[in-house]
Amino acid sequence: MISARLRDRLPRAAPAAVLIVAAAVAMDFIVNVLILGSPSTFTPLMTTLISSIIAVPLSLWVVGQTLSLERLRDALSASVAAKDARQAEAEAALERLGETKRLYRLLADNLTDHVALWSPKGERIYSSPSIERITGYTLEEFMVLPPTAMVSEADFARVAALIRTLQAGGPPAVATYESFRKDGASIWLESTYSRLGDGSNILIVASRDITERKQLELELVKALEMAEGASAAKSDFLANMTHELRTPLTAIIGFAEVLRRSRDLSKTAGRQVGHILDASHTLLSVVNDVLDFSRLEAGGLELDPGPFDPAAMASSCAALVEERAVAKGLAVRVKAPKSLQPMNLDGPRLSQVLLNFLSNAVKFTAHGSITVALSQTVDGETAVLRGEVIDTGIGIAAEHRDNIFDRFSQADAAVSRRFGGTGLGLAISRRIIERMDGRIGVDSVEGKGSTFWFEVRGPLAELTAPEEEPAVEALGADAGVRLLLVEDNAVNRELVRTMLEPFGVALETANDGVAGVEAMRQGHYDLVLMDVQMPVMDGLTATREIRAMEGARGASTPIVGLTANVLPEQIATCLAAGMDDHLGKPINPTKLLETVARWSGRTHAA
Ligand code: ADP
Repeated sequence: MISARLRDRLPRAAPAAVLIVAAAVAMDFIVNVLILGSPSTFTPLMTTLISSIIAVPLSLWVVGQTLSLERLRDALSASVAAKDARQAEAEAALERLGETKRLYRLLADNLTDHVALWSPKGERIYSSPSIERITGYTLEEFMVLPPTAMVSEADFARVAALIRTLQAGGPPAVATYESFRKDGASIWLESTYSRLGDGSNILIVASRDITERKQLELELVKALEMAEGASAAKSDFLANMTHELRTPLTAIIGFAEVLRRSRDLSKTAGRQVGHILDASHTLLSVVNDVLDFSRLEAGGLELDPGPFDPAAMASSCAALVEERAVAKGLAVRVKAPKSLQPMNLDGPRLSQVLLNFLSNAVKFTAHGSITVALSQTVDGETAVLRGEVIDTGIGIAAEHRDNIFDRFSQADAAVSRRFGGTGLGLAISRRIIERMDGRIGVDSVEGKGSTFWFEVRGPLAELTAPEEEPAVEALGADAGVRLLLVEDNAVNRELVRTMLEPFGVALETANDGVAGVEAMRQGHYDLVLMDVQMPVMDGLTATREIRAMEGARGASTPIVGLTANVLPEQIATCLAAGMDDHLGKPINPTKLLETVARWSGRTHAA
């Protein structure tokens, strides 16, 4: 250790010691020889020895001191350098922090959404400056504003309840509410609430101005309401129009029927009455189509599926057009394989489609034949039923085939002039088939004929034998039925009288509901025929009053609605009011007689 120290010091101490010794000898020479002039006192050896004894340890000590001072200096400068490095590091970190803060501020200042922090006690801790842009309140104003100042009490309570359900670190909750700006204007906000899961339980609220979206939503709802209102108004208008058209048609068809049955008519007069009847039936079918189509357009087609036999449907539809077809010299054939199974579908609506195809086939075919062909592809519990009506008529040009299923669409003007029609039948058929999720179409060769077809899928079904209706005895001339007709239209009263009196029906009439109820109080009747739309008191109210009457008469006498209100919901209203049955106007004489015969022997089933 010591030798190591000496090794460090010696190289630097030796020259110093030599220098000191040399200086002492030189000093001895100068003082004794040159100044005192006594060379005998000059003792270089002695001086060298003495000065060496002093100089060597002195030099070693001085060098030692110098060395330790140098080490101290080195250590000091190393520590200063380390401190500088640490300071530079700290300064860089500070700069980075400043940058992050600046970015956060930039973000907070320019945020279009609003961010707020609330303490668990419900005090505002922070609000982003965007609050001013959204609400018009400055940040300072907002920080001291009570939360209830900007929302209704109900919304405040709703949001407060929502916040109470939040769990720290749990999923956020969202609320939409109306808020009020400083200037009183209404705005819509959507806020997302969450509680921090870091133990602070701070509530963080991010709110967004959704006024534009909300206004769009409100406008859409309003537009939808208006559209629904317009559609309801259209449906009401059509229902009223068809009712108003049916009323005069009742008189035209009814009296034409009465006349046609009369034996007093000349041949010419009989033929002319036939024309009146044909024309008025066509008019009636147009009225029916318009009413049906408007209901389909309004989405009001409720399917009523039930077990039905496709083969029986085809035969009865063919039978309905047979008379017209035969009159034109056309043969009508039905091809239905024996294997056809009953299905669970809306049979009456399918019949309507098939009948429409058949009526068109008869209308647009001059020679040849018309074939109804049914086929069925069974697939487990369900099957696809395909119905085709094949004719040898005028056919349809390729360019018209696509749009004939659109409403009011006819192949061309010449055809519509020649054959008439409204262009609604196929549009109605398409809507019915589409409502059943089926397919409808036509294949045709112009001048050769057309095949109209539909395909619908449905479950296979078991046919239950229809409930046996008790046999109704036809009304004889001496039926002796006492009937009350409540009807405000004098022509209709006369019509029903003309139709029923030859069959021994004793008819009394009342001109409105009030008179009808009064007549029921006074008289005894086997049956009441009740119009629905009447002045003073309508038929539904009158029926309810009769049903509520004291005594057996009001409770037991059957009441049959006789009305031009023929929509299913209107019929249901009649039955709900206490009626037993419904007869549509225009009155079909056969149906009227059947109904009177059926109900005059029965009592009301409460
Ligand atoms: P309408 O028969 O009352 O005009 P439809 O909707 O039933 O209305 O038919 C639309 C059009 O399609 C008809 O006007 C006719 O041009 C064409 N059409 C329908 N069926 C046939 C058919 N079997 N043969 C030729 N054209 C037809």
